[in-house]
Amino acid sequence: MAKVDSPVGHSQSTGAPYGRGLYCNRTLNMRSIKVIGYDMDYTLVHYNVEHWERRAYQHVREKLAARGWPVQDLDFEPEFVARGLIIDIDHGNMLKVNRFGYVKTAYHGTVAMDYDVLRSTYGRTIVDLSETRYRFLNTLFALSEACMFAQLVDRFDRGELPEDVKSLRELYDSVRASIDATHMEGELKAEIVSQPERYVDLDPDTVLTLLDQHHAGKKLALITNSEWSYTSSMMSYTFDRFLPDGVGWRDLFDLVIVAARKPSFFENRDPVLAVVDSQRGLLEPHVGPLVSHGAYFGGNAALVEQHFNATGDEILYLGDHIYGDVHVSKNVLRWRTGLILRELEDELAAVHESLAEQAQIAELMRQKERLEYEYYQLRVELQRHKRNYGPVPERTVSSLNSKMSSIRDSLKVLDDEIAPLAKAANRVHNRRWGLLMRAGNDKSQLARQIERYADIYTSRVSNFSFATPFVYLRSPRGSLPHDPVASRK
Ligand code: IMP
Ligand code: MG
Repeated sequence: MAKVDSPVGHSQSTGAPYGRGLYCNRTLNMRSIKVIGYDMDYTLVHYNVEHWERRAYQHVREKLAARGWPVQDLDFEPEFVARGLIIDIDHGNMLKVNRFGYVKTAYHGTVAMDYDVLRSTYGRTIVDLSETRYRFLNTLFALSEACMFAQLVDRFDRGELPEDVKSLRELYDSVRASIDATHMEGELKAEIVSQPERYVDLDPDTVLTLLDQHHAGKKLALITNSEWSYTSSMMSYTFDRFLPDGVGWRDLFDLVIVAARKPSFFENRDPVLAVVDSQRGLLEPHVGPLVSHGAYFGGNAALVEQHFNATGDEILYLGDHIYGDVHVSKNVLRWRTGLILRELEDELAAVHESLAEQAQIAELMRQKERLEYEYYQLRVELQRHKRNYGPVPERTVSSLNSKMSSIRDSLKVLDDEIAPLAKAANRVHNRRWGLLMRAGNDKSQLARQIERYADIYTSRVSNFSFATPFVYLRSPRGSLPHDPVASRK
């Protein structure tokens, strides 16, 4: 594997390890950023997805079992699902959709859908995420819910669920409500707090990254949907060990906002409370401007802009939730946005591993295109010959036919070679779903969402340390179908 990435608009190398670049959709000069807002869960604090999601899944399973559902034998299967997939609730399907909204891969419950069934179900559908039947998996927190839903669709089809579950939508709503309750009730969070070493993946370089930004004059803010006691436990666990004696995680942030209720935080003027006793998490109503180094509960983005005297493009917000963190902050406030996508590291490693196969497919496709072109020329020549129009024919009908037959044979040989390679390419990274950011040869819906709403994306916060707080991130020029081939990226 290559040792370094070329993450800055693909034109400069910052020496970041491969896959740890800052990938830029929209040019961003870090020097003009005054404030960096951070989400906490899966952004500053990264969880071991298998452990966290399996535990959340188990809580949901207990809740459903208590209602008499036959779920005790089910287990969390991380490979069944991935961020960026779309649940079609009404059909009980999980979809991989391309950037145009066409469904490229589908599973009904946990079973792969045949190509013919896929065509007859979705051939005329353009997936529109604003329809209530679709649920986009915005964050890694969505994986347990999606997995449970898929598994229960199988049982629903077999008539194994209680009679009061009359539709797939009711089934989905029950799973959703159980997940919601699991996140809101204290039990799961108490388990995480009591055993953080099992659930949290530490990254010592995150602290250095934040210190670099702080000392470069950036104001840092933590804006999380988690409530106070969980936030302070997780932040202490993750940060304090890497800070010098006498310095705590709170010292890094000019503002801390918990229970932010994103995305409403970016859209509305919700009231704010002050955390007046950080040990006990006591709250009091707060009026007037926010105070430096204060901790707050709720509130809204307008208060943050006012506090820092900064407007949209001077604030960069980094989060992992495609809708709640980057889509809405970009759409409503025009903040600069960055998406944290940890899966990118594995995805890029898989891409790198399959480069030789990709090159082989590309070469075979070039040969195929050349032969097809030759075939089309012969076919039109034959047509003119037979219908007696156009230029005087140079070849006889039988020589044209025999040449065409030999090309058909060569194309068949090529197709037989390409088919298994293309199939394998669609399974790279995840054997069910392939690469997250690709759908076949095209960009996936996930890639489209990221391109639209995230100015930059990267696998983890500490990747900023390679690029430094002074970096000028330039987006690549991008390719267009009419570009001369040599200049295409
Ligand atoms: P953030 O990413 O730091 O803003 O925090 C995310 C918070 O939302 C965490 O406390 C999660 O437990 C919580 N959360 C994630 N998914 C759900 C859900 O489906 N329902 C309720 N809370 C959730
Ligand atoms: Mg988050």
